[in-house]
Amino acid sequence: MLPFFRRLFARPAAGPPPLADRLWAPLAELPILVGLDAAETLKLRQLAARFLTDKLIEPAGGMVLDDGIRARIAALCCLPILGLDDGWYAGWRTVIVYPGAFVRPRSQFDAIGVMHEWEDILGGEAWEQGPLVLSWADVEASGLCEGYNVAIHEMAHKLDLLNGPPDGFPPLHRDMKRREWSAVFSQAYQDFNARLDAGEDTALDPYAAQEPGEFFAVLSEYFFEWPELVMLEYPEVYQQLARFYRQDPAARLPPYPHPGAEPVLPAP
Ligand SMILES: [Zn+2]
Repeated sequence: MLPFFRRLFARPAAGPPPLADRLWAPLAELPILVGLDAAETLKLRQLAARFLTDKLIEPAGGMVLDDGIRARIAALCCLPILGLDDGWYAGWRTVIVYPGAFVRPRSQFDAIGVMHEWEDILGGEAWEQGPLVLSWADVEASGLCEGYNVAIHEMAHKLDLLNGPPDGFPPLHRDMKRREWSAVFSQAYQDFNARLDAGEDTALDPYAAQEPGEFFAVLSEYFFEWPELVMLEYPEVYQQLARFYRQDPAARLPPYPHPGAEPVLPAP
């Protein structure tokens, strides 16, 4: 039933008016949104406006929110569902925004019963059926076509969580094959880990090697921010992501380096 309801709630005609011109104008300059055609732009503005209606964006840690900040968060969070619909972001309500990276205390018993305690410093966090947590400094560093996008990363986790743990296996469309997705991602993940183990200085963020769920989230960031790199390194992953997100960012973004982006490829 779920896909049916998703379609039912996806009718753009029933959606709120698109994001206002004054809020959209600065966002239209973001390198990651360059290349969207008129229909895609309208849909993203509608999705972002509905996101702002449906979700509660809450400040934390002294963050001061304004309409421009809320709009930028909404637009970046909605880019992954531009080819889908907002039913894919159902089941949770709150976005918590810190001014910068935030600290999460962690603890774990090891095999011999010794408690280990440490702190993780995070730019974003996605809770299962709970809030999405973002650092505004990291959101500001996103969308510049430099390969980093905390909003897309955390939203990829949210999509992944729709069918269980964040294992890099989100609910696939009917026209996709689970076995194909699994084979392509497993092979790429193992290859990436092997390259890091061999000491290679990879252009892709080594954080992707943490676990399959992180590989999916990090490759989703690159898919939207720097699609040529995914096409170059793991072309089959690019194809699977294009079929999942129903978007082809490599076709719409100007060739790398994108205008406004700092080239980070090593010199030849
Ligand atoms: Zn992650």
